[in-house]
Amino acid sequence: MIIITRPFVTDAEIDHIRERIESVGMRTHLSRGEHRTIIGCIGDESLLDELPLRSMPGVESVTPVLKPYKLASREFAVDRTVVRVGGRTAQATFGGETLTVIAGPCSVESRAMLDATAAAVRDAGATMLRGGAFKPRTSPYAFQGMGVEALKMLAAVRAETGLPVVTEVMDTRQVDVVAEHADMLQVGARNMQNFPLLAELGRVRRPILLKRGLSATIKELLMAAEYIMANGNHDVVLCERGIRTFETATRNTLDVAAIPVLKRESHLPVIVDPSHAGGDADLVAPLAFAAIAAGADGLIIEVHPDPERALSDGDQSLAPPAFVQLMTQLGAFAAAAGRRLPEVPATTRAVA
Ligand code: PEP
Ligand code: MN
Repeated sequence: MIIITRPFVTDAEIDHIRERIESVGMRTHLSRGEHRTIIGCIGDESLLDELPLRSMPGVESVTPVLKPYKLASREFAVDRTVVRVGGRTAQATFGGETLTVIAGPCSVESRAMLDATAAAVRDAGATMLRGGAFKPRTSPYAFQGMGVEALKMLAAVRAETGLPVVTEVMDTRQVDVVAEHADMLQVGARNMQNFPLLAELGRVRRPILLKRGLSATIKELLMAAEYIMANGNHDVVLCERGIRTFETATRNTLDVAAIPVLKRESHLPVIVDPSHAGGDADLVAPLAFAAIAAGADGLIIEVHPDPERALSDGDQSLAPPAFVQLMTQLGAFAAAAGRRLPEVPATTRAVA
């Protein structure tokens, strides 16, 4: 149920409405806009049957939310959510007019390769750095990531470049150490329905990048976001990264329609991972352009200084020149979608 308040509702009226709703055992969530406020009710809606909500001072309308996701639903928020990542020195935002491009290696392999990649992607216009420390590999014999050592490198490179960093957390036991080093925590496709992990991330004061599961429906993705939000963390960015279909020509099938559907269903920002969707460096640029044209708020792209020697996902990683070219061509698609790419400050170029 959502309660939309009248214009010029007072704080006392809002407090009174919330108190009455909470007195019957439901939770409330407030979304304030410039002209109106939405009070969302979470819990067993039958508990509200006895409350004369419509007649309470300040109430304009009362509408049921039939979707199983509440906090994530478009109806629960007055405005689209803008998720801010990072602190004073390194910042990025998702969901505003400016697109955010995250770029970096699939896995952190050494300090030297991370330094080289970070400088290259920053100079090309990326505003966040990615890099896997704990890697979810299909084979237990494949490179599993450098773990905490990689987290330390990511934090050091953030300090040097001003790029906030995102890295994957695979297990509840890793949450504290990843949150200590990273600005944003990634939930990988294979963990989208790891409910204890999602609940734990609800308690973290860091934004979450939630990737769609390999075979997850849009509704399941939104329910996974709901888990994080219901546990207290409302800073969630959704990521379409391709889904499993019968098609074998590409690693996954990019579900372009998921972008406008997610934006219709939810107020959360939506980004796209064209690297894991296509699984092929040649497909990254066209899929990135399609994603931005369809309304995505940003991209996450794998870039490696020497893709041929990458320890994971080399086939789909762009070498820096190809990433520069992609970013150059992306501007026209951003403009066509009514968005823009961040300015590349001349001062950061000089530091490289
Ligand atoms: C990754 O980002 O490197 C990754 C493993 O992605 P996904 O979870 O989408 O497969
Ligand atoms: Mn990868």
